[in-house]
Amino acid sequence: MRFKDLTSPTGRRRGAILPLLSWVAWPALSPVQGSERPNIILISVDTLRADHLSCYGYERETTPFIDSLARKGVRFENAFANASWTLPSHLSVMTSRYPHNHGVENDDRILPAAAVTLAEALKAEGYATTAFISWVYVSAQFGFDQGFDAYHELLPAEEAVDDSTHAAVKAEDFVSRVLPWADGAGKQPFFLFLHLFDPHINYEPPKPYETMFAPTRESMLKGSFSNLEPYIRGLHAQPKRILPEDLRRMTGLYDGEIRYVDDQLRRLFARLEERGLLANTIIALTSDHGEELDDHGSMEGHQWTLYDEVLHVPLIVCLPRGESGGTVARSLAQSIDIAPTLLAAAGATVPAEFQGRNLLAASAASESYGALVFSEIKRFNRKWSVRNERYKLIFTGDRKPGDRDEHARQGYELYDLAGDPGETKNIYSQIPPMAAAMRSALRRWMADGVGTQGNFEKPALTDRQLARLRGMGYVEKSE
Ligand SMILES: [Zn+2]
Repeated sequence: MRFKDLTSPTGRRRGAILPLLSWVAWPALSPVQGSERPNIILISVDTLRADHLSCYGYERETTPFIDSLARKGVRFENAFANASWTLPSHLSVMTSRYPHNHGVENDDRILPAAAVTLAEALKAEGYATTAFISWVYVSAQFGFDQGFDAYHELLPAEEAVDDSTHAAVKAEDFVSRVLPWADGAGKQPFFLFLHLFDPHINYEPPKPYETMFAPTRESMLKGSFSNLEPYIRGLHAQPKRILPEDLRRMTGLYDGEIRYVDDQLRRLFARLEERGLLANTIIALTSDHGEELDDHGSMEGHQWTLYDEVLHVPLIVCLPRGESGGTVARSLAQSIDIAPTLLAAAGATVPAEFQGRNLLAASAASESYGALVFSEIKRFNRKWSVRNERYKLIFTGDRKPGDRDEHARQGYELYDLAGDPGETKNIYSQIPPMAAAMRSALRRWMADGVGTQGNFEKPALTDRQLARLRGMGYVEKSE
């Protein structure tokens, strides 16, 4: 498969890791000045649910390299995405704003030029800003290139015939495209954003990863979207239930994709190390959302639901001199916190528009007690959620003409995550005071429309791009 590098030069414009830090104050970081500014590498591995990383307690060794980052950095045990699909979630990372505040909740809008991004904030501080991305929903077509000197879109060439994620760049090719950049990186402090796509459906890791965690032959189901589509609840009022042996195989393939990415990141970082690019560098790794593997009766929950299998994501931050290395932070963290945390760690100014907070501030851990995490989707159905340390409330809104999710029913769900982490028992009517308090917090947040005013341009996706998205269930079939 050939990939076109759509570089836009200026743009459109269980861990055994101790100690556990729960509500213990962080050591305050000293501001960094001028040329001593650390480099920043932000990695997003698409569709990576936290509980499938070995450093988050998974029984399979899916992430030995990422585990090594966790040993050198701070691992946030309770980090959550603000949306459960790629476009709004990544924009929340980049703008430090909730989806309904950055305003690009769906693929009919482009991030306005007036929005402030992490890359713009770093560019203003003298950083060279570069990105390599793997999927159209993180592309310049939606405004993601704002603030980047170079935005390398490793997307299929327009004339490529494949209409599915077969056409998404594989981690090995992705890394091969980043290596020349590493060889040419200059002395200017850099911000490098890397977005890899492999764990997303289709589950088709290369050898030897395809059999690494799925060695049995009791199921030979291929992990393509078309094979899994009958089991996707959002697409069917009464979906088929996947057979246990097929689920084991899909889980093994998904885990194989994760290990494949992990090994390729190791390969990339070996070169970065060799080139001396890690000597004074902040490294952060996260994901835009997780994925459902039949947890709530579906083989795809991302973009359909707000349960934890699609919201709980890894977040690891390594500081330049290994400060706080090997610690586990248990306080609540969310995607919008990533940009302010990175800026503060680099001694850079955090824009006033940012809604997140610096997770490494001396006061952050104690402040986080009582903090709330909010998430939302406005896609094929409309859902909003709020969580505190123990409870989570989900609200499903009215269905609107054009909504695809026949299964969605309006109403509230409340879960006690302490006793029911799988979110299986809705206790909304059982503890009215907690239900009322959470409902009121959620309503207040939903009503905060700051940032949604203004004119949004509409992206112009090509017929080929639309065909590929259709092949992945992202847009309606045209029939
Ligand atoms: Zn995604």
